[in-house]
Amino acid sequence: LSRAGERADEAASRQVAQADPGDPLVALTQDLVRIPSENPPGDTRAVCAALGVYLKEAGFALEFFEPEAGFASLLAIYEFERPGATLLLCGHVDVVPALAGSGRWSRDPWGGEIEGGRLYGRGSLDMKGPLAALVLAATEVARSEVPLSGRLVVAAVADEERGGRRGSGALVQAGKIRADAALIAEPGDRRVVVAHRGMCFVEIRTKGRSGHASVPEHGVNAVELMVEVLTACRSLTLRHEPHPLLGSPTVAVTTIDGGENANVIPDLCRATFDVRKVPGMSDVTVKEDIVEHLERAGFGNPAQVEVRILASGEPGETAPDAGVVEIAVRAFEREFGHPPEVGGTAAATDGWWFSQSGIPTVMALGPGGIAGCHIADEFVDIEELRSYARIYTDIIANFLSVPELA
Ligand SMILES: [Zn+2]
Repeated sequence: LSRAGERADEAASRQVAQADPGDPLVALTQDLVRIPSENPPGDTRAVCAALGVYLKEAGFALEFFEPEAGFASLLAIYEFERPGATLLLCGHVDVVPALAGSGRWSRDPWGGEIEGGRLYGRGSLDMKGPLAALVLAATEVARSEVPLSGRLVVAAVADEERGGRRGSGALVQAGKIRADAALIAEPGDRRVVVAHRGMCFVEIRTKGRSGHASVPEHGVNAVELMVEVLTACRSLTLRHEPHPLLGSPTVAVTTIDGGENANVIPDLCRATFDVRKVPGMSDVTVKEDIVEHLERAGFGNPAQVEVRILASGEPGETAPDAGVVEIAVRAFEREFGHPPEVGGTAAATDGWWFSQSGIPTVMALGPGGIAGCHIADEFVDIEELRSYARIYTDIIANFLSVPELA
């Protein structure tokens, strides 16, 4: 046995002592947490296969989709007897690497250990626990005797942590997502989230001419030029209409990289900006605004200062009075005894892939919040997870309920 194996055994015996073996929500969450699916690299085949077994047993028809090797997503479909609307239930199965973010784990990130009402592990909160709650709610409704209509689609998707292009994006592009409404079970900070900002990673390059550092005037220093460019960007403003739920865009300088040797004038320096967009903004206007701002500040020569878009994701929004949002609000209120705030979130979710194709989407509704994601000793509160499982059951049953016959 390897040391890791011994640790896993030790962890397993602790769980036997503390977990309720009859609790399917805890058991499924543990099963999913114990299958690593770090992104990068993003291989989600094993975790989708495990979910497939579970959903097939409950009568769901399965379709696996793998647009790029390893990036597997699962669509599990349940048709009720009468025709009706389709509700899409979505959760991502990839997780950020165990060591992402700061701090050290005091537990096995793949152990699913339980202590003090918390289930620990990478992805326990973001978002294998919430996905387990969604899957249990879906199977419970499918097995119940209550007459419902329409279709339930569970989408367990890859690649959300790196923008979703090879997960939800590929599913939408392939025409595999057809739904009247969608619900994403991301941690929502006790709110019903109907809007999220988009992102746009921008690279700025300054270019100079290298030379011997003992005669700096013979070269053109790209690092010094970058200092001036970044200083000028402190007064950068981006065109936008402030959004009622999402406010205004933000810009953060996130990386800088330039120079190779202590005695050489650097001829290249690169920096990246993380720009968070609100609805109405586009990559084109973001780039134009930066280029024009730099021109006004005296950095208009593209041979010296270059601006490019590296990666991008769009903002998403759904009308707060959409039917699925109202059903979610009522379900939340029944569970917690007070109405939720219907709001926006600073972080991105997969919601925009669906909302941009016209599907009203609850972008995040789930236990915990952003502060609990991507951290060491990530955990989900088991009681809170149970509350959300009840909320999901309530939403599904109400969305697919058969109208009273006259
Ligand atoms: Zn997430």
